[in-house]
Amino acid sequence: MAKLFRAAIMGPPGSGKGTISKRIAESFGLQYLSSGHYLRESIAANTEAGILVKRYVERGLLVPDNVMTRLMVPRLEQLRNHSWLLDGFPRTLAQAQALNSVCELDLVISLNIPYETLKDRLSDRWIHPASGRVYNMGFNPPQVQGRDDITGEPLIQHEDDKPEALVARLRHYKDVAKPVIDLYKSQGILHSFSGTETDRIWPYISSLLSAKIDTQPSTPCQNPMP
Ligand code: AMP
Repeated sequence: MAKLFRAAIMGPPGSGKGTISKRIAESFGLQYLSSGHYLRESIAANTEAGILVKRYVERGLLVPDNVMTRLMVPRLEQLRNHSWLLDGFPRTLAQAQALNSVCELDLVISLNIPYETLKDRLSDRWIHPASGRVYNMGFNPPQVQGRDDITGEPLIQHEDDKPEALVARLRHYKDVAKPVIDLYKSQGILHSFSGTETDRIWPYISSLLSAKIDTQPSTPCQNPMP
């Protein structure tokens, strides 16, 4: 059987998680699974789950664990025989436990970005809500100010990205992520990367993955617990 490789990436809002995930998926041929993408897809399709999660996603709040688990677990089961990279899930300990009951991760990447850097990036951040495309007015501005490059639709700034809400938001992220990080640390699969620039962190992540993907054996995902 071909070796499977399953990884997750964790990082606070503004950590460059989306950019790094896409680079990993492209460079190492891993299927890219983004919980934010699945949520936006359900919202756009107006499914029952989509209606339920809309008010959380629009406000940048965490969707309840049971809803997230119901959304993600069936998709992961379908990909039992694939290698993948999970972006945005698990975000809480309950989600990590639900994931554990479906399959074991081989590796977790945690991005440790200084608070000042996150604050600078987020306060300049504008989003196209339907697609999740993110622009930064400083280093990645849209072609037309205030408009999405692909659809031309208006960009919005999350209430939570406004400076006054940022401290609370980042603190909340830290509190919720800590037990998840501790769990993966105790399992010996956590790798943390620190820095202020995505392009400087990337070579370290890339060499770690080159080493792991070449050598690491893996087992298929199990059926979930009843
Ligand atoms: P992202 O694209 O990962 O930034 O996610 C966009 C939004 O979807 C987040 O701000 C949350 O509202 C929601 N979300 C994504 N993943 C999760 C998760 N694992 N648990 C709870 N909420 C989530």
